[in-house]
Amino acid sequence: EVSVLKSKTDELAELDKKHFIHPTSAPKKGAQDGPDIIFSDGQGIFANNLEGEAYIDGMSMLWNVNIGHGQKELAEAANEQMLKIAYSSAFKGFSNVPAIKLAEKLASIAPGDLNSVFYTSGGSESNDTAFKLSRFYWSLKGKHEKKKIIAMRDGYHGVTQAAQSATGIPTTHEFAGASVEGFYHATPHLTNCELGDKNDPNYEQSIRYLIEKEGADTIAAVIIEPVQGAGGVNIPPEGYLQAVRKLCDEFNILFIADEVICGFGRTGKMFGVENWEVVPDLMCIAKGITSGYSQLGGVMISDTVREAIVNYEGVMAHGFTYSGHPTACAVALKNIEIIERDGIVENAKAMEKEMQKGLAYLEEKHDIIRNSRSIGLLAAFELYNSATGEHFDPSLQAATKVVDECFNRKLILRAIGDFRVAIAPPLVINKQEINDMIHIIDE
Ligand code: PLP
Repeated sequence: EVSVLKSKTDELAELDKKHFIHPTSAPKKGAQDGPDIIFSDGQGIFANNLEGEAYIDGMSMLWNVNIGHGQKELAEAANEQMLKIAYSSAFKGFSNVPAIKLAEKLASIAPGDLNSVFYTSGGSESNDTAFKLSRFYWSLKGKHEKKKIIAMRDGYHGVTQAAQSATGIPTTHEFAGASVEGFYHATPHLTNCELGDKNDPNYEQSIRYLIEKEGADTIAAVIIEPVQGAGGVNIPPEGYLQAVRKLCDEFNILFIADEVICGFGRTGKMFGVENWEVVPDLMCIAKGITSGYSQLGGVMISDTVREAIVNYEGVMAHGFTYSGHPTACAVALKNIEIIERDGIVENAKAMEKEMQKGLAYLEEKHDIIRNSRSIGLLAAFELYNSATGEHFDPSLQAATKVVDECFNRKLILRAIGDFRVAIAPPLVINKQEINDMIHIIDE
């Protein structure tokens, strides 16, 4: 039977090589070597290949399978809704039951006065929507010049043209050349600068400096991930997000929180901003909203922004075919029900300590592992050349090597750039399973 499954894998791999252009992948390698793995099924923190070999999904795939794999209740919720009506439009006066119920649920769990939602199909669409909503909001207020967006270096916001323009990771700009204008990047986590200390030597990289240079009258919004994910799992120092919130208030600029990774429990709170008790004006969500069981995203909108929008008598010409998709919304509702019922956020918080212990152990034992950090179940460590005390030379591809070796031992992690490795397992993970991951990294 094993050889039958093996030949099935080989057959599919050939087809993949020929016909499947993979997202965010090296196309030449894909066309030559085919996929590294073809997933077949999964359970909890495990994702299995076609031959039934179990891999620990130490990244929740793309930081999104928060409640873990194989949750039948989500399949049943989708099935039930599909049998009723799988899809209906939400344009111009049409609505549906799951989209309404989910909107109410999201309003009840989102921080502060984020009481309305605009649905999308994912994170990039959510961010593009937030930029457009910001500009729309200011033009409704008669401030037609407020169009620019300030984002952060190392921030990741997606791959649609505007989301990519906001993204502050240079390699993501290589693929298609020039992007949308009007996006500026500040260096994150310079708390003193954000607080207004012009004597700080980093002042010219701060958000405040950019606002003053470009003029607050031209800036619509600042977008920040509460904890940067794809840019390296960068956790802000205490006081940072609060300082940015104050800055936005001072200059009449909207604060957009990109909670695409942080939302739905990843950082040990339902939403990342709750770690610093900050309430944004717009909050972008996706990924964990369905734990990946269906494609859904959204922008949560504050009452102030909502009030301006709902007083507009024209047509707001922005909407996706799948905005408010009934099946996706039914899946999200069930997913949030499970997150609350099973104490998934509480588990992420409880496991934070276990993850920190494991990372401390690795740092203690291996001189090449340094600068580890984590919040909830969002973690990373860096690889250093112990002889020089510097990061390894990029040509050595240290992070990729570590990730490949872990993969060979059936643990999925993710390399970020040349020397950082991210860990973000499903939030249902237990102590023993965290120790199993640490043990493999240790090897
Ligand atoms: N924002 C953040 C913080 C992300 O991590 C991602 C994806 O990784 C996105 C936005 C883009 O989301 P999507 O890939 O669903 O378009």
